[in-house]
Amino acid sequence: MPPHNKSRLPKVGKTSREIRELLESAQPDPVRTHWSKVFRGPEDVQEIGRMAYNMFMSHNGLFAMRHAYFGDVETELLEMCTSLFNPTPDSCANLTSGGSESIYSAIHAVREWARVKYPHISEPEIIAPYSAHPTFSKGCHYFGLKLTRTGLGNDLRADVAAMKDAINENTVCLVGSAPCWPYGLYDNIRDIAALAKENGLWMHTDACVGGYLAPFVEELGYPIPPWDFRVPGVMSISADLHKLGFCLKPASTVLWRSAELQQYHYVHPADWPCGEYAMTGFAGSRTGGPVFAAWAILQYLGREGYLQLAQKLMETKQSFIDGINAIGGLRAWENDLLPLVFEATAFDLQAVAAELNRKGWILVGCKEPPLISLPIDAAVTDEVRDTFLADLAAAAESARATESVEEDSLAY
Ligand SMILES: *Cc1c(COP(=O)(O)O)cnc(C)c1O
Repeated sequence: MPPHNKSRLPKVGKTSREIRELLESAQPDPVRTHWSKVFRGPEDVQEIGRMAYNMFMSHNGLFAMRHAYFGDVETELLEMCTSLFNPTPDSCANLTSGGSESIYSAIHAVREWARVKYPHISEPEIIAPYSAHPTFSKGCHYFGLKLTRTGLGNDLRADVAAMKDAINENTVCLVGSAPCWPYGLYDNIRDIAALAKENGLWMHTDACVGGYLAPFVEELGYPIPPWDFRVPGVMSISADLHKLGFCLKPASTVLWRSAELQQYHYVHPADWPCGEYAMTGFAGSRTGGPVFAAWAILQYLGREGYLQLAQKLMETKQSFIDGINAIGGLRAWENDLLPLVFEATAFDLQAVAAELNRKGWILVGCKEPPLISLPIDAAVTDEVRDTFLADLAAAAESARATESVEEDSLAY
């Protein structure tokens, strides 16, 4: 036995064939791990993304600002993205590695903006509804702001009156979700943004999950409450390309109402031997893979492609709702967008989740109230749906017979 049993680097490397076999044997059940995969488009969309990703994987975003072959593609990508959010002539965006980084970027910009606009505030505060993503708590921790979470209304949307009551002399920003992850519901962004405007505050809309799907779902005629730059007072938006934009991870965007606000994002130090260090965001060197993949996927799908995928996704969601509601004791919610969530009305949902886990499904849920979340994507096959609904019916059956459940099966 070696002194400690951590795996060591093999002395002699394996062949590519051996590696392939090892990786293939490490692959989990493709059907029952579906919900734990990142949101995806259909196989042809992923294939386009992989092609572009592989071509530009070793190209470095460090040079995006200096070399047109990279910078022009990134700029074009960001212009396509911005155009979806009812921009002002002056709206713009930056690419990030994910929703978390997009939210950190917004919180950082809010802090820098507040330092200029309200220099007397030494302990700036942000107000967000209880249902806002935990990244707001992380980001406020990292950047030294205080986050106050306010309660939700009976409809589980932000309680805007409670947000108004929570505003104090240190408040610099209000947050709303479009939609929030726990329930797939839109906060009343109009009211939150109006409140922010009235009080001279920044307002951020977190559209990480829905941002790249909502414009198309709305165009198809589904009712989506307004949440983007058409709402006066919305100053920044986070929206994930790698979720319902069907791009490859890691790719997200932070969007700014104006180029002036975007300036608070940039930190360009020059206090070292090599001169100005002008990156587009938090990252230093970064792979071109996700940038070129996102550009390629947006070009490949176009408006029509996104509309078709949005239609397919909403139909898939409905077929899950019908399938879940056909199982006695379960009820799917009719929420605004995604994720699809469902509750148990006649037994403990924890028992259902525990049984699904035992069958190999990897799921996330919500505790208040108990819900299971299904992040429907455009790669859900009939096999995934039918296997899931059959396992769910069996899990519901066994939950009925279960007296007490100890497992914490609904953790995120
Ligand atoms: C996913 C998500 C985030 C965080 O995004 P990551 O890409 O996981 O970092 C933030 N807000 C909402 C509403 C989300 O759904």
